[in-house]
Amino acid sequence: MKDTYRHKGLRKILVEEVRGKGIHDTRVLEALMKVPRHLFMDTGLERFAYKDQAFPIGSGQTISQPFTVAFQTQLLDVRRHDKVLEIGTGSGYQTAVLMEMGATVYTIERQRDLYLKTQSFLPSIGYKANFFYGDGYEGLEAYAPFDRILVTAGATEMPEKLKSQLKTGGILVVPLGDSGSQVMTRIVRKSDDEFEKTEHGRFVFVPLLKGRTM
Ligand code: SAH
Repeated sequence: MKDTYRHKGLRKILVEEVRGKGIHDTRVLEALMKVPRHLFMDTGLERFAYKDQAFPIGSGQTISQPFTVAFQTQLLDVRRHDKVLEIGTGSGYQTAVLMEMGATVYTIERQRDLYLKTQSFLPSIGYKANFFYGDGYEGLEAYAPFDRILVTAGATEMPEKLKSQLKTGGILVVPLGDSGSQVMTRIVRKSDDEFEKTEHGRFVFVPLLKGRTM
């Protein structure tokens, strides 16, 4: 499947919609404009790709709503060359948005089928991320510390290991709460043992689950 002028036109309308909902960081909007979301959707759902909605991607998971991707990315305040850890690779859409912003991305997925699918698909359209199959609650100790850490599933408790894998000055964005809805939480590491926490409204994510599938 290709990225046509029609797709680009639909994407422009989506980006304007997302801007209208309060996303002001032009780097985020430009990244959204570049990623061909229709290529990340299952066949049959492709025609809905430029609606501002989440959609199923198999294995009971979803590709996040573009507004939510933009909101999390804006909070993360990604800079060029940042080393970013993403928990929940899923379709790889968020990974691609981070890469369009110039980040080097390490991404972890606990569902084996999704991990296998996305680690072969994303590089095929030019996004060479570093893919890992495992439990994101554990982070990636071997590659720590990170400038930025983004959790794209709802965590019932604060993932303390992720906080410890942040650089000083680094930022962690994680939706926190029970299965009903989660509070978008932003943590800035001020020093070795000082963290500043702010909250940014309620969202609904699929759950961050412990362990990985076989
Ligand atoms: N960033 C994705 C969002 C996918 S939904 C996208 O843009 O499409 C969240 C993903 O997190 C799901 O694929 C789910 O399987 C994964 N996930 C849930 N718990 C996890 C964990 N502990 N470690 C890694 N991935 C996890």
